[in-house]
Amino acid sequence: MVGRRSAPSVAYFLVTHALFFLLACRLSASQQARNYTFVHDARTAPEISYYDYIIVGGGTAGCPLAATLSQNATVLVLERGGSPYGDPNITYLANFGAPLADASPSSPSQRFISEDGVINARARVLGGGSCLNAGFYSRAEADYISGRDVGWNSELAKQSYEWVEKKVAFQPPMKQWQSAVRDGLIDAGVLPNNGFTYDHMYGTKVGGSIFDTAGHRHTAADLLDYANPDGLTVLLKATAHKVLFHTRGEWTGKARPTAHAVVFRDSTGAKHRAYLNSGAHNEIIISAGSLGSPQLLILSGVGPVDQLKAHNITVVLDQPMVGQLMSDNPMNAVFVPSPVPVEVSLIEVVGITHFGSYIEAASGANFGSFPDNDYGLFSPKVRTPQPTTQFYINLRQILTFIPKSSRSVSCRRSRQSRGRQRP
Ligand SMILES: Cc1cc2nc3c(=O)[nH]c(=O)nc-3n(C[C@H](O)[C@H](O)[C@H](O)COP(=O)(O)OP(=O)(O)OC[C@H]3O[C@@H](n4cnc5c(N)ncnc54)[C@H](O)[C@@H]3O)c2cc1C
Repeated sequence: MVGRRSAPSVAYFLVTHALFFLLACRLSASQQARNYTFVHDARTAPEISYYDYIIVGGGTAGCPLAATLSQNATVLVLERGGSPYGDPNITYLANFGAPLADASPSSPSQRFISEDGVINARARVLGGGSCLNAGFYSRAEADYISGRDVGWNSELAKQSYEWVEKKVAFQPPMKQWQSAVRDGLIDAGVLPNNGFTYDHMYGTKVGGSIFDTAGHRHTAADLLDYANPDGLTVLLKATAHKVLFHTRGEWTGKARPTAHAVVFRDSTGAKHRAYLNSGAHNEIIISAGSLGSPQLLILSGVGPVDQLKAHNITVVLDQPMVGQLMSDNPMNAVFVPSPVPVEVSLIEVVGITHFGSYIEAASGANFGSFPDNDYGLFSPKVRTPQPTTQFYINLRQILTFIPKSSRSVSCRRSRQSRGRQRP
C-alpha cells in the first residue's frame, strides 16, 4: 500500500526474539466477518453471468477499484483466495510470520521460488498483499504522481489517498525499538526529522501503518465498505483461467482483439463464464498482481509470440513486453543475537536518503528459528552459531558491496534485473 518504494537499497533491521501469539478471545472490529452481502463462494455462482466490469484479482488494487466502479455499474471481482476476516494470522501484527510459514495449499500466502532460486511469497486472499505485508503506508512522491511516470491529477490523487487513509492508515505507536531506530537515523545524519507524515519526504519520518494502535491489521478488503452492495459481486475461491477475446473484427468490427469474457473455476473445479454486458465503456481489468496478471494474459494468448507458441497457446496478440522488465529489490538477511527481548514491531520509521537508499526496520519476530520454523523469504538459510535470541538484519544494501559468490543468505532479484548495475 505504499505509494512507491523504488529505491534500490532498502535496509530492514529485524531484531528477533520469541514470537508472541495473541490469545485474544474477543474479536476485534478488523477481525469480525464483515457483513459483506456481496461476497460469495464461487461454487454458488451461475455457469454464465453478465457484468459491466470484471475485475480479476481482489487484492490491494482490485478491492478499491471494485468499490469505486460499483457506484455506477455492475462489477464482478474474481479472487482465487478466501476471506481474510476471522483469520488471526492475518489480523494480528504479532502473527506476521505465520502466514509466510504456512505453505499449505489453503494458505493466504503462496510461496514460490524464482528462476534464480530465490524464495518469495505472493498473496492468495481477498485483500491481497495487504493481508500479508509489513503494513508500511506512504503516499507516492509528488513527482511520481504528476510527472511523466503516471501523470495523474494531483488533486484527485490527494482525495484518493484520503479515501484510503480514512479506512486503513494509522499513526503507529512508536515504542522503544522504533523510537531507537528513528533516533539512530537522525544521529546518523538522515535529516531533517520530518516527524509523522504520510508524505514522501527526504530525511527521517514516521510513516503510516495499516496496523492500528492495538496491532490489528486493516486491509484493502476493508475498502469494500465503500462499495455499493447492489452493484458488486465478489466471488472467493474463483480462479480465472482465461480471458476470452473477439479477434479480427469478429463481433466488434475493430481490428484489435477485444476482451469480452473470463473463464474461471471454483474450488470443485467447475467451470464458469462471466461475460461483459454490451457497452462502450465496459472492461475486463486484470489486477492479479505482478506475477498473476502477466500469467493470465499469457494463458489467454497475449504475450511474446515465441513463448505462446512454445506452450501451444493460440496467439491472440503478439505483445512482447508482457511479463518482461520485472524487477525486485535485492534482499540480504543478517541475523545478530539480541541480549534482551525486543518488542514486536513492523515498519514504522523510514530514513529516505539522497543517495538512493531507504532504511527501515522491524523487530521482535522469531525469524531466526529456522529450520524449526520456516518463514520463507524471512528465514535465514545458513545458520549462525546457536544464540539463544537473535537479531535479524535484512540488509538489502549489502548486496551492493558483497560479491555474488559470498552471498550466503536469502536475497532476491528478478531474472530481468540480472546484470543490471544498481546505482
Ligand atoms: C512479505 C511482504 C511484505 C511487504 N511489505 C510491504 C509494506 O510494508 N508496504 C507496502 O506498501 N508494500 C509491501 N509489500 C508489497 C505489497 O503488499 C504489494 O506491492 C501489493 O499488495 C501489490 O498489490 P496488487 O494489487 O498489485 O497485488 P496483490 O495485492 O497481490 O493482489 C493480487 C490478487 O490477485 C489474486 N489472483 C492472482 N491470480 C489470480 C487468478 N488467476 N484468478 C483470481 N485471482 C487471482 C491473488 O490471490 C491476490 O489476492 C510487501 C509484500 C510482501 C510479500
